[in-house]
Amino acid sequence: MKMRKPNKILLTLSVGLFSLMFILSSDNLNAFQSAEEIKDRMNDEKKVQKSEQEWKEILPDDEFKILRKKGTEPAFSGKFNNFKKEGVFVCGACGNPLFSSDHKYDSGSGWPSYYKPIDKSAVDTEPDNSLFMRRTEVLCADCDSHLGHVFEDGPEPTGLRYCINSLALDFVPEEELESGKKQASAENK
Ligand SMILES: [Zn+2]
Repeated sequence: MKMRKPNKILLTLSVGLFSLMFILSSDNLNAFQSAEEIKDRMNDEKKVQKSEQEWKEILPDDEFKILRKKGTEPAFSGKFNNFKKEGVFVCGACGNPLFSSDHKYDSGSGWPSYYKPIDKSAVDTEPDNSLFMRRTEVLCADCDSHLGHVFEDGPEPTGLRYCINSLALDFVPEEELESGKKQASAENK
């Protein structure tokens, strides 16, 4: 009977250690950051704020999985991968202008690729260490939706490759931008 006590302590200790290792090695680590994140979000004013439930109601399932659940569409499956029209790519969730066709290039990766966003303030980036990789996540600066990742193997002049999911984007053709501008300037007269 006397021997059982230390064994029990040892067992409790090792179970505890294993749980800790599991927590530290998995995405559960994020749980530790949530209070910090919430604080950040309160300070960082977003133009578009909706609950995940609201996003779910607005967005089609496949877009919701990418934009709000940080999913990735299969390579070469997206409608903007081989897309060469002139215009602006906007956030599929909130319509924020993100990328211009002027900065789109064929990376051969299977996803629409841009060497820079339309404006520095259009996107945010966050370190992403999921799936045993060190990557940099790209998010819409206005609504925090997941867009894709940015890598440092892009062309000049930036050397960056914004690798973006087609499902995270909508497209506004140049003609509509032009007519929109004309309309706006006519209204201002
Ligand atoms: Zn957005």
